[in-house]
Order: sequence, then structure tokens, then C-alpha cells
Amino acid sequence: MISVQEALNYIAQSPLNRRIQQVDLLDSIGKILAEDVIADRDFPPFNRVAMDGIAVAYQHTGQTWIIENVQYAGSPQITLSDPAHSIEVMTGAILPEGCDTVIRYEDLEILPAEGNKLARLLLPLEEIKKGQHVHPKGIDRKEGSIVLAKGLRISPAEIAILATVGKTQVWVEMPPQVAIISTGDELVEIDETPLAYQIRQSNSYMLASALQQKGIASQRFHLTDDPEILHQHLANILENYEVVLLSGGVSAGKKDYVPAILTALGVQKCFHKVAQKPGKPFWFGVKTNETGEVTRQVFALPGNPVSTFLCFLQYAQAAITRQAVRYEDVYLAQKVHFKPALTYFAPAKTYFDEGKQMAVPFEGSGSADFANLTSCDGFVILPAEQQEFPAGTLVKFIRFR
Ligand code: AMP
Ligand code: MG
Repeated sequence: MISVQEALNYIAQSPLNRRIQQVDLLDSIGKILAEDVIADRDFPPFNRVAMDGIAVAYQHTGQTWIIENVQYAGSPQITLSDPAHSIEVMTGAILPEGCDTVIRYEDLEILPAEGNKLARLLLPLEEIKKGQHVHPKGIDRKEGSIVLAKGLRISPAEIAILATVGKTQVWVEMPPQVAIISTGDELVEIDETPLAYQIRQSNSYMLASALQQKGIASQRFHLTDDPEILHQHLANILENYEVVLLSGGVSAGKKDYVPAILTALGVQKCFHKVAQKPGKPFWFGVKTNETGEVTRQVFALPGNPVSTFLCFLQYAQAAITRQAVRYEDVYLAQKVHFKPALTYFAPAKTYFDEGKQMAVPFEGSGSADFANLTSCDGFVILPAEQQEFPAGTLVKFIRFR
């Protein structure tokens, strides 16, 4: 049996090879960029006026200037004819030829003067700095430089850059095709009325909704605990899906066929059983191609709903979404005693007390008591090496709400 950390390492060492595709700019939001993006021009592409006011030639700055023209945003560059004059300029305009400095309207008085307008400075001259309120060409990024590097996740900030460089189409990594399979003879669909010894399947909906929250679609299947059915359908599903999330059939029961069948179908086992509670029977394996790239990831999760959910949150979620889990720091609100040499993921509710995030663990809540999860926000993670966790102990927390 391996430790929680070893399980995380195995999964991290077997990342799924991602398909890449060109998509419309807006469809790239939230996805991983699969190309380096180059600045097609300088950022900004010209010396840009950053304030409404007048543009002047600094070395000829006096206390008043004749305004000889207006430079609007979106108009071709005009030229200052007399270095002692000025040109009215608008934010976003190209700086007129012959000018190097902008003075804001707020610092000026504009006066009429013999057919012309006159700008008079309201400040001491020393307060005007050469080059002020000009956004110099290329200061943000230079033409030809990489403005966005392959591998980053696209947020609205990246969309703005992609738009600026004229990318109507963007190469991105596509989310994997995910199959979610519930196994068990006792399971019926949710619109059926279960017999006395049956239950409605909930795990596949829990997992599908968790993925849907992250913008990832999935297909659900139910397979009975029949080796032939499992073999045949799993073979088919492995043909068509890149990530397979199974629940149930991985423990020590007489009908827990899943690990043997996955192996028979050429899925290489990375590990089976992790020193943790709940979720100990968790099985993980991959299929690779001739060049050793991982083409399929199979997460076979134990069937008890709390185990299924915890194993998904802790192991499968980050691998599928490529978004690392953000563990929080919490203080235990009450002491916990846990003897077995297993990492204990206890469902817990969090609250703030004097700026500290506290967590109340739901002790004694079993891996089948999934209704208790509705009173919880996540799981506290109590290390395997320790048995006593006094109130106030700082521990990691994995959140689902
Ligand atoms: P297993 O891992 O197959 O031994 O299942 C452990 C427990 O989880 C059993 O009580 C199953 O009935 C239950 N279980 C398995 N799959 C599901 C499911 N999709 N929804 C709800 N409970 C399940
Ligand atoms: Mg089962």
C-alpha cells in the first residue's frame, strides 16, 4: 500500500497527453494555451497620448502656448509647426510630431486670443516633467516578443492580449473526453423505483456535476458486476474516452472484478490501495502509446459515496482539469483521535473565529454516510504519522463548497 503523497506523485507523473485544437477566440476562455503568442507590433504601437490636454515640445516650454491644431484619437499624426506652440491632444491619440510632453487640461486655462486659442499653465513650470503623460511606444512589450507563453490558462486578461494581436483563432488544449461508470448489481437509475435490496445510483451524478462545475462534459454509464459485460463495455469505453472514472468494484468483494478486467484490457496499473481513510481501495492506471505518451487515464474509485467523492477531489479532479487543488489551512475546532496508520480525510464544516479559519470534523461519519456531506464544506487532512490531533492543530483542508 502506498501513501497519499506517493499516489499524488504517480498521478502527476502520468499526465494525459492532451489533444490540441484551434478554437474561436471567445471559446478559448478557461482553456490552456497551446501556442506561444508573439506581439505583432510594439505595445503600445506608437507614442500614445495618455491624458486629454495639450502636447508641447519640452525644451520650448514657457507659461503660455498658442494652440495651433487638434490631434484626435484615431487620426493620422500631425506635426507641430512652431516649437513654441502646442497642439490639443486627446487620450489614445498618436503624439504629434515635434512634441514630447503632454499637459493636462486640469493644469491649464484655455483662453481666446486673436482667432487662436491660448493655453496658460496654472502650475509652476518645474512641476512639468519632460515626457509626462506620454505612453512610450513599445514600453509594455516589444514587437516580436512572446506576449503569452504556451501552457498558461486563458483568463479575460489573456483574451484581451489575444484580441490585441489579432488572434481570431487560438490553439488550445482540449478538455479530455470523460466517461463516468457506476458499477454494481444493486444500482438502478434515478427515475426508477428501487426494490428493497436496491439503491439509486448517485455517484455518477455527483462526479458529472463536479466536472460540469469546472466546464467539463462527461458521459455516464452503468455496468453490472458481470465480468463479461464489464469486459465488453469497458473495452468499448476505453476506445472512445480518454479519462475513465469508475466507481465501485475495486475492493475485496467476490464481485469486485474491476482491477482484473482493466489489467486484461491493457490498462497498466500504477497503484491499487492508498493508506488513507476513506478511499483505501482506490486504483489508478494508464494506457500509453508506442512513444510512451499517456493516452488513457483510469481512476477506479471505491463505491461508497464519501470515498468516491474524496478520491475524486483529491486525485482525479486536478488531473482532469489541469488545475491544481488549492488546499486551505484550517485549525481544528475540536480534538481528533485517529489510531490507524492512514491519512484521515474527515468531512468537516468551516467557520471563521477572530480571523482564523476553524474546522469542525464530523467524526464517526462513515464513508457511506453521504447525507452528512451536506452539512460539510470539505475534508480536513490528518496525516498518517500522527494519532492525536489536539484542538487548535493547524491542518490542510480540501474544499468542495
Ligand atoms: P463497492 O465499492 O462496489 O464495494 O461499493 C461500496 C458501496 O458503495 C456499496 O454499498 C454500493 O452499493 C455503494 N455504491 C457503489 N456505487 C454507487 C453509486 N453509483 N451510487 C451510490 N452508491 C454506490
Ligand atoms: Mg460494488
